[in-house]
Amino acid sequence: MSQNLNKYLHQDMDKTAGIDHTSHRTKIVATVGPACDTYEKLLDLVRAGVNVFRLNFSHGSHEDKQKIIDHIRHINSTEPYNIAILGDLQGPKLRVGEIENNHLDLFVGDILTFTNEKCVGTKEKIYVSYPNLAGDVKIGNTIMIDDGKIEVKVVNITKEKDVKVEVTLGGVLSSKKGINLPDTKISLPAITDKDLVDLEFIIEQKLDWVALSFVRSVKDIVILRNKLDEKKSKTKIIAKIEKPEALVNIRDIIVESDAIMIARGDLGVELPIEQVPLIQRELIRKCIHRAKPVIVATQMMESMIDRTKPNRSEITDVANAVLEGADAVMLSGETAAGNHPALVVETMRKIIRQVEQTEYRYNREDDLKPLAHSPSFLSDAVCYNACKISKDLNANALIGMTQSGYTAFMLSSYRPQSPVFIFTKERSLVNQLSLSWGVRAFFYAEEESLDNIVVDQINILKQRGFLNTGDVVVNTGSTPVHQHLPTNIIKVTKVD
Ligand code: PEP
Repeated sequence: MSQNLNKYLHQDMDKTAGIDHTSHRTKIVATVGPACDTYEKLLDLVRAGVNVFRLNFSHGSHEDKQKIIDHIRHINSTEPYNIAILGDLQGPKLRVGEIENNHLDLFVGDILTFTNEKCVGTKEKIYVSYPNLAGDVKIGNTIMIDDGKIEVKVVNITKEKDVKVEVTLGGVLSSKKGINLPDTKISLPAITDKDLVDLEFIIEQKLDWVALSFVRSVKDIVILRNKLDEKKSKTKIIAKIEKPEALVNIRDIIVESDAIMIARGDLGVELPIEQVPLIQRELIRKCIHRAKPVIVATQMMESMIDRTKPNRSEITDVANAVLEGADAVMLSGETAAGNHPALVVETMRKIIRQVEQTEYRYNREDDLKPLAHSPSFLSDAVCYNACKISKDLNANALIGMTQSGYTAFMLSSYRPQSPVFIFTKERSLVNQLSLSWGVRAFFYAEEESLDNIVVDQINILKQRGFLNTGDVVVNTGSTPVHQHLPTNIIKVTKVD
């Protein structure tokens, strides 16, 4: 046992709450908005099961976000939780401008003019926030407005760089609605001027995760990575998959990113909506095989924005995401602007737990083995076999150590039956790992000897009520301890 063990024993005040909070292994991401932005409401959401709070930089000021960040950090320092914060950059989201009286009836066959000159929108002219619209679109291209509720086709591009369109699906257009161009290659940069300002704030605030919207190629991720590296930021990157181009480059994007979000809202506008379920399934599978956390997002419990019970189809949607093996499921308007933010989280957690308790839960065991050509093949094989041993022994804990997060992501990717506990001396990882399936992370910085480390880790888990005398524990680690090598050992212990 290390002489410093005492300083790690009291990181969590309330053991019971801590244990209960880890009882759902598929994590819950909740978007913060006016419906839940006070300290008390955020704490209610955490108690109901939130693991990660998402701040959407498409809305609100930095001042408002600062208050929310302070509340979450206060929760982390006074309550037994490690809640991660995710800053979601708006990216090159295109929108129409203000619309006269916030209401414009559009009928099939109407001809409209999209312009880059600011104006109040009428049947004559509508402003679109996209300087090169006329240069990028071609006659015949489809433009979707308001999540595809309205569709138009380009019929002419004028000398004045206005774009004439014909309405093919009518509806009511109101101000600032988003537009998508599913068959146009957009020349806007991946990180806009607004994103750069927001990114600076995210880096200053040391947020745990940053999500990049409308990723088109791996270059977008590399640009963001360089910006984070320039500032020596430890913030990890989530690539939001919502463009068809991203799917073409998906392997490289997954490899270069730290996690993936399946942004089904825009994805279902940019692609035929019936393709979304199988894309979701395939992206989850690919991410698990690369040990990258994957979030399923958008409209999971949408009806609970107003109501106290979800639709049957929403329950099945959440359950299916769990069965497919997602690391996390996400709530947007349900928690940001809904009437029952804590109830929706509680309901989501109940669905997750119900599925996870069954034999139908996702299991990677018979799936891909560690890849022999991977540079991390040796440590991957140790993680893979540690998970197998933990299953054979019906172990009460599978413990990993990490400095980069890699071992945590790898152990988690096997979705082991045994609870996964990760110890790290990298403080930033303790909250970051809250996104990862089944992982509960602890700060621990001792490096005396591996014997002492294993004893300490077991004692810390025992003291918190996660382990009891007689339990079986599988530890992974690396020796020589001071060399910080990739994971290279497995140890099995019966708890005294
Ligand atoms: C989505 O489109 O599904 C999504 C999560 O993106 P946002 O909510 O940022 O538009």
